[in-house]
Amino acid sequence: MTTLTPSDKALVPFVSVDNMMRLVHHIGIEPMLRGLADYIEADFRRWELFDKTPRIASHSAEGVIELMPTSDGEVYGFKYVNGHPKNTAEGLQTVTAFGLLANVGNGYPVLLSEMTVLTALRTAATSAMVAKYLAPKGADTMAMIGNGAQSEFQSLAMKAICGITTVRLYDTDPAATAKAARNLSGMGLSVVACNSAEESMEGAQIITTCTADKQYATILTDNMVGAGVHINAIGGDCPGKTELAPAILQRADIFVEYPEQTRIEGEIQQLAPDHPVTQMWEVINGTAKGRRSPEQITLFDSVGFAIEDFSALRYVRDHIEGSGLFIDLDLLADPDDPRDLFGMLQRAAPA
Ligand code: NAD
Repeated sequence: MTTLTPSDKALVPFVSVDNMMRLVHHIGIEPMLRGLADYIEADFRRWELFDKTPRIASHSAEGVIELMPTSDGEVYGFKYVNGHPKNTAEGLQTVTAFGLLANVGNGYPVLLSEMTVLTALRTAATSAMVAKYLAPKGADTMAMIGNGAQSEFQSLAMKAICGITTVRLYDTDPAATAKAARNLSGMGLSVVACNSAEESMEGAQIITTCTADKQYATILTDNMVGAGVHINAIGGDCPGKTELAPAILQRADIFVEYPEQTRIEGEIQQLAPDHPVTQMWEVINGTAKGRRSPEQITLFDSVGFAIEDFSALRYVRDHIEGSGLFIDLDLLADPDDPRDLFGMLQRAAPA
């Protein structure tokens, strides 16, 4: 990790939404998705040395607010993220987030960043990094079911990292499909708007489900899923919030990030607690098998894990050095005499 050099050691570099968007355009969205996937894959390779815990969730009738911490022993990170499916109807995002990295040695934060845009990028980069290991060889077409905030990112990452050339869009709200089709035009993908989930899956080797509904939804039924496909299930990520019929899970080989969290939040909450799953870090390190045959149905039961956010923040920290795309935030009290916090407050009193 490079060292940022704020003008004062107590100032914390802060990446705003505006600066995050500038950073994406400065790097280029596809190179950034590839770069993020490389950082995430590198951290999955050293999975065992990270602190790991299921994220700390505060549920309400409307949604969830979560904290996602981890550490590699040198750097600590966490993300604050919400998930409120009803928000879009009120003109708000379903998912918003911000996150922080800190120096384990002294506990001082070294980066604070927006993570709403960054979460969309890291989720897409993770999906594509995983699909690289699990999707059938030569996959060129993806069904994209759920055309909300994440959908264009998911589509572009599958293009940039897995080489898909066609994306087939479907959403229960045609306006969402029209938005995604508009945004993806001119991005080097052939884009097909579809009228049903079944239609979107025609000829698709990769099926991404990325819908938002706080219920056991059935976006895919068993009869819709043929042999040999890879399912990238993104939207089922909370207790009581899933997308796939349980019969699909029984036919698929299931790959997860961190089983302890996925059993609470993922599609597999619908299965027995001892149903076998494979951890992606083991596939990446070669200690577990990914796709074994062309007929196999592989399922990435994605819920989003703290290490992916840590990797994304690490990527941002390494790429803002010298870019001017951050401001120094006066976040930490810094008295000249570390024990004279009160004196510093007294000296700040209005005359
Ligand atoms: P969003 O609200 O912007 O979009 C969701 C879309 O799904 C909407 O356009 C909605 O009309 C559509 N939809 C709802 N029910 C549908 C159905 N039955 N069939 C087809 N479309 C349907 O949400 P978003 O920000 O794009 O997030 C999508 C989901 O992904 C959310 O559930 C979110 O919690 C989840 N998510 C997961 C991760 C992860 O790491 N796994 C990361 C980010 C978001």
